[in-house]
Amino acid sequence: MPRRKKEPGRKGSKTPLRWFDRFGPRSPDPAECPDCGSGSILRICYGLPGREMKEKGRRGEIVLGGCMVRTPRWYCKNCLHRWPEDPPPEALNGIPEWQEKHVAEKVAEFAALTAEAAEKPPPDEPVVENYWERRDGRKVFVVRFPWGKMRLEKRSHLVPLGGTAVYEVIMGFPPFGVDYSRSHHLAQLAAVRFEHRPPA
Ligand SMILES: [Zn+2]
Repeated sequence: MPRRKKEPGRKGSKTPLRWFDRFGPRSPDPAECPDCGSGSILRICYGLPGREMKEKGRRGEIVLGGCMVRTPRWYCKNCLHRWPEDPPPEALNGIPEWQEKHVAEKVAEFAALTAEAAEKPPPDEPVVENYWERRDGRKVFVVRFPWGKMRLEKRSHLVPLGGTAVYEVIMGFPPFGVDYSRSHHLAQLAAVRFEHRPPA
């Protein structure tokens, strides 16, 4: 029986496993972000970064995606979108009691946000820099803080379950020393206030 040629990357093979053996040929970098149309795109690189990769990440030439390989390959600096994306779940999982509790919490959160947005804005509230509605119905808010941006998406997946819309923070991390949950709340508040703004 003829001996089978060893595959690259297999134990005992002299040929190292190359990137495209595992993930297919690299597709060329897209010219623009499919969400906002900006050309400020960075490639997301996965794996334990070596010295060169770390340096490129530090210079902002690539985004370090972590050791787990995930679906998104590109990152938009303008709207913080990562794609291709795994579509967000459309329903809830878990026992019915948990689902009911989750929906009730989100309803209360939405009511509190709406009530707070009717008051005078706190001095540190960020501004909505950009807003659009996606074809899939998600509404995108890019919110500007003094330290950078946060991307929020308004989703309606809980509405059929008796819930309200939810404002989810998709991307954007405050630097060390800035309270994350406060930033998160302020970003949601800015989005709600933006939606309730008087018509121009
Ligand atoms: Zn974009």
